[in-house]
Amino acid sequence: MQSSYEVIILGLGGIGSGAAYWLGRQYGRDVLGLEQYEIGHVRGGSQDHSRIIRLSYHTPAYVALAKQAYQAWATLEVDAGESLIVKTGGLDFFPANAAIPSSDYTQSMAACGVPFEWLTAAEVRYRWPQFHLTDDVQAIYQAESGIAPAARCNAVHVRMARAYGVTLRENEVVTAVHDSGHEITVITNRGRYHCRYLLITGGAWSNEALAHFGLHLPLTVTQEQVTYFATPDPATFAPEQFPVWIWMDDPCYYGFPVYGEAGIKVAQDVGGAEVTAVTRSFTPNPDNAQRVADFTQRLLPGGYGPPILSKTCLYTLTPDRDFVIDTLPDHPHVAVAIGAGHAFKFASLIGKLLGELVVDGVASADLSSYKIDRPILRQTNPLKQFLV
Ligand SMILES: Cc1cc2nc3c(=O)[nH]c(=O)nc-3n(C[C@H](O)[C@H](O)[C@H](O)COP(=O)(O)OP(=O)(O)OC[C@H]3O[C@@H](n4cnc5c(N)ncnc54)[C@H](O)[C@@H]3O)c2cc1C
Repeated sequence: MQSSYEVIILGLGGIGSGAAYWLGRQYGRDVLGLEQYEIGHVRGGSQDHSRIIRLSYHTPAYVALAKQAYQAWATLEVDAGESLIVKTGGLDFFPANAAIPSSDYTQSMAACGVPFEWLTAAEVRYRWPQFHLTDDVQAIYQAESGIAPAARCNAVHVRMARAYGVTLRENEVVTAVHDSGHEITVITNRGRYHCRYLLITGGAWSNEALAHFGLHLPLTVTQEQVTYFATPDPATFAPEQFPVWIWMDDPCYYGFPVYGEAGIKVAQDVGGAEVTAVTRSFTPNPDNAQRVADFTQRLLPGGYGPPILSKTCLYTLTPDRDFVIDTLPDHPHVAVAIGAGHAFKFASLIGKLLGELVVDGVASADLSSYKIDRPILRQTNPLKQFLV
């Protein structure tokens, strides 16, 4: 069995499977991906039918990155011969005195040349009568927003990585890593491998992986949940009729058209308790479910029906909610990505950039906002600002 590789990827969730695909295109059989559970498992942050993809973001850096994210998915789609991203358009709602400033979004999109519409409640109700809005609500509409079908995207990354010759090993947990400076040794429950470059894409397990390098980041892992409601008239809420949406207030809710299940999906952003990857449960929290049900009934009375199911999932949050995409201090051949609870739309791109960063030493995107040694990540107990 081959034991030496150019690159090893620790963790094959959304970002790791993206890295496996992009590195596979370049290095083929010289890439190994290691996943501690079965590929496609539901214990991490990247499963379920859908994630929102959007250009509408709160900083120009994210808007610019999102533009590149669409390009990365488009390349994958062509390469795989499979269409993935479903364009629905997207609405960001801002009630009066919203906790999240709308100007962050409008200014960032304007700075990046992204077109958007600023709509009154009446204009939204006219175009999408499914939404029941009071007159104090205003909205940004951006036409490129839509659905990244998460589980399918991961499966396509995996299929294509394997087609390029990448070895992906499941049920194999990385238990130790040593970096000698010229070679990295990766030890698992099943074997020992050597590589020149290592990518850490460990999601909620990131700090365990970083501990092999004496590093610890002030990450917060939360147990999130999404709920599907049995929509009485699903055609009215089909992706061709109904956009993805985000309620930009505290609490912040977001939702999807009917996609993957027989009803709309709604969730609260950062609505769950702090957990660890070990202490988390798979039991939906009833208070969270009730909050989401009440909100859905108010905003989308025609889409609301008995809950079909709720699914739990983990966010791995940095205190400023910004990503980490960087090489490790003193270990230039090791790179890490942390998705901060909003990275699925970027999963393919981040996988690509991580590979570029660690192998070429420079990535084809501005990653200066996502440094691992930024001041807030060096604090033991930093102020947490998850609402963006
Ligand atoms: C409910 C919910 C809704 C979301 N909505 C959106 C959205 O609408 N839009 C959006 O863009 N993003 C969204 N996100 C965020 C996005 O899904 C995540 O940021 C992203 O999927 C995280 O991917 P990841 O690869 O970092 O982590 P994961 O997918 O969790 O992958 C990490 C993998 O590493 C493996 N691993 C860890 N340690 C080891 C080890 N030692 N050895 C081997 N394997 C290991 C794990 O088993 C796991 O498979 C949402 C997340 C959740 C939970």
